[in-house]
Amino acid sequence: MSQPTTPTSPSSPQAEIIQLCSRHFTSIPLSLSRFKRQWFLTFPRTYGLPDPDSQRIVCALNSPDYSTSSEHARNHFWLNPSCRSQRYNPSDITTKHSAVSPIHLLLDSDYPVARLTGRIRSEPSNDPHDEGKQIACYEVEVITSEDGLLRQCYYCLSWEAAGKSNTRFCPGGNDIYWCSSCEASGWVLSTIRKLRLPDILTWSDGDEKPRDNLYSPTRLTSTG
Ligand SMILES: [Zn+2]
Ligand SMILES: [Zn+2]
Repeated sequence: MSQPTTPTSPSSPQAEIIQLCSRHFTSIPLSLSRFKRQWFLTFPRTYGLPDPDSQRIVCALNSPDYSTSSEHARNHFWLNPSCRSQRYNPSDITTKHSAVSPIHLLLDSDYPVARLTGRIRSEPSNDPHDEGKQIACYEVEVITSEDGLLRQCYYCLSWEAAGKSNTRFCPGGNDIYWCSSCEASGWVLSTIRKLRLPDILTWSDGDEKPRDNLYSPTRLTSTG
């Protein structure tokens, strides 16, 4: 008798993006995203924002911690409450939603997303007004599977759940994801396009804001 083929996990290609929402607060649902050691609150859908595909990052949740193993960092982070001042784009909408405390969002979600490990440590505040003072940070364990995180295409910077598409992005190796059209083009062509992207944006519109980018969070501008 031949060995039965390994059944494909029902959660792999079309897993749901987890949404953080709670009856304890009024907020549109948010989602979680991660690249390597940094975690973000994101908008799981476009919600009709003015520039739908370029404004999904609500805030970073932590400063990447290189003292832990990458395995540990895949589902743990030190929630730095000052990170929400690194809001990407200070539109009224994002300001309103980042006013919800990230810790409350994470722990109060009706769908269980995260829990505190109980460990607390101090880290410098990222808020420029705090002038580097130490603040308390809480270690968070993410208890949902990796499949539930919202993904961004590394190459064209598009996000999942844009428009009517529910197609999930596939892993492209080294913790990156890519959309189906970049995957179809292959990484060589997609890399060339990615490198040319800033030039194209400059030509098309001088006032174009940089697109938010999980993979290059240093480009997140502090709103000061
Ligand atoms: Zn509550
Ligand atoms: Zn893409």
